[in-house]
Amino acid sequence: MDAGAAADRWSRSRALLERARRSLAGGVSSPFRAKFPVPLYFADASGSRMTDVDGNRYIDYTLAWGPLILGHRHPALVEALRRQADRPHILGAQHELEYEVAEKIQASVPCAERVAFTSSGSEAVQLALRLARAATGRNLILKFEGHYHGWMDSVLISHHPRADEVGSPEKPHAVLESRGQVANVVENVLVAPWNRLDIVERLFAERGRELAAVILEPVLCNSGCLLPLPGYLEGLRRLTESHGALLVFDEIITGFRMGLSGAQGHYGVTPDLATFGKALAGGPPLSAVAGRRDIMELMFDGGVAFGGTFNGNPISLACARATLAVLEGDGGAALAQADRMGRQLMEGIREAARRHGVPLQVCGFGAAFALHFTSRSELRDYRDTLEDDRERLANFLLRALERGVYALPDGRMYVSAAHTEQDVAETLEAVDRVLGGLPKKVENFSLTWAPCCYTLSLRRGRIRWERWASVAIPNVQLLREIEKSTVLKEIPSDAMTSPLAPVPTFPHHGKA
Ligand code: PLP
Repeated sequence: MDAGAAADRWSRSRALLERARRSLAGGVSSPFRAKFPVPLYFADASGSRMTDVDGNRYIDYTLAWGPLILGHRHPALVEALRRQADRPHILGAQHELEYEVAEKIQASVPCAERVAFTSSGSEAVQLALRLARAATGRNLILKFEGHYHGWMDSVLISHHPRADEVGSPEKPHAVLESRGQVANVVENVLVAPWNRLDIVERLFAERGRELAAVILEPVLCNSGCLLPLPGYLEGLRRLTESHGALLVFDEIITGFRMGLSGAQGHYGVTPDLATFGKALAGGPPLSAVAGRRDIMELMFDGGVAFGGTFNGNPISLACARATLAVLEGDGGAALAQADRMGRQLMEGIREAARRHGVPLQVCGFGAAFALHFTSRSELRDYRDTLEDDRERLANFLLRALERGVYALPDGRMYVSAAHTEQDVAETLEAVDRVLGGLPKKVENFSLTWAPCCYTLSLRRGRIRWERWASVAIPNVQLLREIEKSTVLKEIPSDAMTSPLAPVPTFPHHGKA
């Protein structure tokens, strides 16, 4: 679709954004949302589907950045909200939903001897780290490159550093992410690459006695859903234990998505503390810290300060109770459905990429996965993703959006219990068309000069010379320049011919 047609398709969304910009800073409520190819305004949503204000329909794989594990407006949540509407909305005091939901978390999450509620994931992480520092009497935190733990000063470090900022893998730089951030927070944080136990071992050998905690996303969802290598989480558990540091799993994405017991249950590694949010209440704002009793009780008899006007608010807790009941019901059928649909999508997208000769990796677990346009055969850590072709991803996401597939701007796709076989089939059809229509990228080509013809030999075939006459005027200097570059130009797929196709001859234009 050309730019004009695309503009028409989203004209109302664009107009509303313009209006919003005159009152709302940036026109959006979180700068992350401005990163979508088109920041859309939505009129309605139900189950796995959304409708924007221009009347376009989408299959939703953003799920509000994670919370909608049951999809939009699940009947159990609608009912919970209706009932709670007739009850106190906020008390600033105790009510029974607090312990009811805490008991459910306790029953399903291995580390949850005690639970505390707050409102956002960022707050939950702050509490977990304060508890860890208080419990150990130490200051230093170890975090990993590419991992996100909220936008607060103390942890917004090396989330997505540039290639020229990261430093060597053995001694990564702690990179501030934001202007205005307290600059010396980096003194309190050590950074390591993900999935390199040898490096963490060395860091522990050097500074283990100063480390209060290691914090991590047990699956690296915020940099393309990279799974932990076998033995990695166990290794972190062993190292923290033997050095008297705490292990903190940030399960704000994996919690109640990877399974009812979170990534810790899935991998069989129990941290000292864990944070939850997003899917916990199925939509409304709610987060939690769960962990060892002796550490959690420091808030009450150990002088650790914690607060929050909205902590334990009944509306969110009513939704959490309803969400957890659905997730527990029918032998865990809801999460099994999300996982099954996600795995079908992952495999289907891989197959489509193979069919169209597009170098693409699909990483993650069923209910959360991500696309990487890369010719790497394996992605293990954030540094590997720095080679991803982001321009190509942006192009893919825009074309997919035009075809009704709504994914996160970093290529992540979340799948809910509301997604169906029909959604998967429609999505794969759209993906197939988008991948089939994507420009092919020329890599690793070599150029041969012959007296009467030029041949561009590509890894996967040849390009007819005529196509190139307008791109590269054949003189020797230009040919040399082309030869030096590793990526020449996006070439429309119809310009590719099979390796067996004859190479047309071309008149001689100069000397080699
Ligand atoms: N931790 C992780 C792993 C997250 O993905 C996020 C948000 O995306 C956060 C923490 C922060 O949560 P919130 O946006 O609710 O503050």
